[in-house]
Amino acid sequence: MAYAELGLFIDGAWRREGSGGALPVIDPATEETLGALPLAGPADLDAALAAAEKGFAAWRATPAEARQRVMEQAAQALEAGRDAIAENLTREMGKPLAEARMELDFAIGVLRWYGEEGKRAYGRLVPSRVPGVRLSVVKEPVGPVAAFVAWNFPAVNVMRKVAGALGAGCSIVIKPSEETPATAIAIARAFEAAGLPAGALNVVFGEPDAVSRHVLASPVCKKLSFTGSVPVGKHLQKLAAETLKRCTMELGGHGPVLVFEDADIEAAAKAAAAAKFRNAGQVCISPTRFYVQEAARGAFTEAFVEAAKAVRVGNGLEQGVGMGPLVGERRLDVMQGFVDDAVKHGAKLALGGERLGNRGWFYAPTVLTDVPETARIMNEEPFGPVAPIASFADEAEAVAKANRLPFGLAAYAFTRDGARAARLADAIDSGLVGVNSFTVSLPETPFGGVNDSGYGSEGGIEGLEAFLRTKLVSETGV
Ligand code: NAD
Repeated sequence: MAYAELGLFIDGAWRREGSGGALPVIDPATEETLGALPLAGPADLDAALAAAEKGFAAWRATPAEARQRVMEQAAQALEAGRDAIAENLTREMGKPLAEARMELDFAIGVLRWYGEEGKRAYGRLVPSRVPGVRLSVVKEPVGPVAAFVAWNFPAVNVMRKVAGALGAGCSIVIKPSEETPATAIAIARAFEAAGLPAGALNVVFGEPDAVSRHVLASPVCKKLSFTGSVPVGKHLQKLAAETLKRCTMELGGHGPVLVFEDADIEAAAKAAAAAKFRNAGQVCISPTRFYVQEAARGAFTEAFVEAAKAVRVGNGLEQGVGMGPLVGERRLDVMQGFVDDAVKHGAKLALGGERLGNRGWFYAPTVLTDVPETARIMNEEPFGPVAPIASFADEAEAVAKANRLPFGLAAYAFTRDGARAARLADAIDSGLVGVNSFTVSLPETPFGGVNDSGYGSEGGIEGLEAFLRTKLVSETGV
């Protein structure tokens, strides 16, 4: 199958060439070039901003019911193209095809959720202190939105921004990752086919720093929504401050997993390994620090290593492959650095710890045990298939370990003691807490972190609220 035709989508039209040059898109499993991606220069970005202003006027004037119908049409267009879109997602990002299909289904679910929820952007009436006065609280779309998203979920990262903005009546200029453009382009095509007004959605690619500086310096966009790393998020928030844009920051985490001796250890280990190696560990809510109560450490480690050994690594397009390559060559060095540093600090290598083959950016599912808190991997988000296991003595120590880093995105606890589960849910400083579960993300539930992991939610009613602003209308003589 041919890889997608690449382009910039500005003001309802495709630009096959950008004023910023072009960049090759590489298949991380084969290192082959898939296509040449046009990059936006200042002229393209100015056109996208002007289009977003125009598109906002048209889209906000469209009733919510009619907006939902367009979004539903786009959902159906994505469903019709599901297999081809998923295949290109796997080729550009590396994740196994089954995961790509699941991701696309999730993205379609997000689109439908926001389309429906946009009809419920209710305001309220506040009782007046005096007769003849009506106080109305009105929810309005915040305005054109600027969004930048990472490569690890090429469909969901894009859709959370696009559908949230459109559901609320906003227009959007989005820069998906240059590493995974075809999926975002397929999403834009679905909206084009659905009859979205020109300029309501604009998709650009470019040199990330130049694009974000240009777009954020403009007063056109009233809101910034970013998914990516903590340092880039902090940098973008500073740029957004110049024009006082509201921000939603979906940043990285370092998800602790607390496994108590009263848990179903075998089930916890199997679920933990499945969650850990999903998307080769390149997931912001990935479980990344495993703390097991001392008495259960041996059994947990053994079952986890067995499950890790069973993960078949290879090209995500091949049947039976459970883990694909890392997204870029740079990530191989990062993984090796984490492993070497942990071993230097006294950790034991129980599995993996090396690159696989010399073509494609494959790294072995890796398990480290007895990892001290001083090792770099216990402090920096690994974002890869390396699982460090350590232990704890009691609940107080487990909570202290879970809460010791500045991140607070996802945290997990496994126990069969209901009272303990409730205490942990209270005590863990995190935006998402999974108890005997790794499922913390659905279209209808709020998703987001606290502290250095960012703020603001995507999904759920909170996700729509992020794209709305509040107005008071005070009328007399009514
Ligand atoms: P990176 O921080 O260089 O890039 C992450 C994403 O941000 C990329 O898609 C990139 O295009 C974008 N980006 C980078 N600089 C930008 C800028 N100035 N303006 C706008 N966008 C910009 O890191 P990487 O090597 O690609 O990925 C590794 C790290 O990224 C991980 O350690 C992880 O923390 C983080 N990450 C987080 C998520 C998430 O969902 N929270 C997703 C992917 C990557």
